[in-house]
Amino acid sequence: MKILSIVNQKGGVGKTTTTINLAACLTKMKRRVLLVDLDPQSNATRGSGTDSASIKYSINDVLLDRHNIDEAIMTSNDGFDLLPATPELTESEVNLISKDNREFTLKNKLSKVSGNYDYILMDCPPSLNILTVNALVCSTGVLIPVQCEFYALQGLSELINTINQIQSSSNESLKIEGILRTMFDSRNNLSNDVSEQLNQYFPDNLYKTKIPRNIRVAEAPSHGMSILQYDGLSKGSLSYYSLAGEVIKDE
Ligand code: ATP
Ligand code: MG
Repeated sequence: MKILSIVNQKGGVGKTTTTINLAACLTKMKRRVLLVDLDPQSNATRGSGTDSASIKYSINDVLLDRHNIDEAIMTSNDGFDLLPATPELTESEVNLISKDNREFTLKNKLSKVSGNYDYILMDCPPSLNILTVNALVCSTGVLIPVQCEFYALQGLSELINTINQIQSSSNESLKIEGILRTMFDSRNNLSNDVSEQLNQYFPDNLYKTKIPRNIRVAEAPSHGMSILQYDGLSKGSLSYYSLAGEVIKDE
């Protein structure tokens, strides 16, 4: 069983897109998957085809002890389970700060259902806040999407420091599962330069798969679908399949 946090405090690098599409690919490969939306923007919830009217309870109700986790879990369009978020999740962000053992809250809640899954994927907000720390504390690994553009490497060392801190304070077994190049454009020199730099700095952690910039990938969430459902033969779809293959390789 793997619990993966999809993390990068930089905004708009493809965290949510990767979480949804990896969840869909692993489901297609017959793995039991739970997607946890840990971002008040709730893009992963919407992109999985869940509109706010159909959400009875959200992750906020679970973190604040209002409802049990199994009452909040729903099924997505793509067939994976979803612990949905709403904008009210900012409430947990504030309340957790004053709670004892605040960084273990999500871990305690997830332990009730984790046995039902092969993979739990957590879509984190673009910040190293208490919600992200909660995700890192209960994860076996971190998947870091990096957009191959200028400034891409900025902030990565801060992220790696945070991961190291969590390793030494509360989650010894946390590892960097992999670094994923997203929105890659091979005709763009900058994309190639950044990709080469990542290769130099992280030769052991870089996924071979590069996710290309692909308009179909960007369109899919507005239809509440993964790229597999929206356009299964697109380059985006094939590349996310290839990523899923790398993720399950060491099962
Ligand atoms: P945030 O930090 O706000 O949570 P994020 O890291 O989750 O953002 P996404 O929402 O996944 O990033 O992606 C940012 C934008 O880039 C979205 O509009 C998304 O549709 C688009 N996008 C992501 N991946 C691709 C791709 N491979 N090709 C084209 N567009 C993409
Ligand atoms: Mg996001």
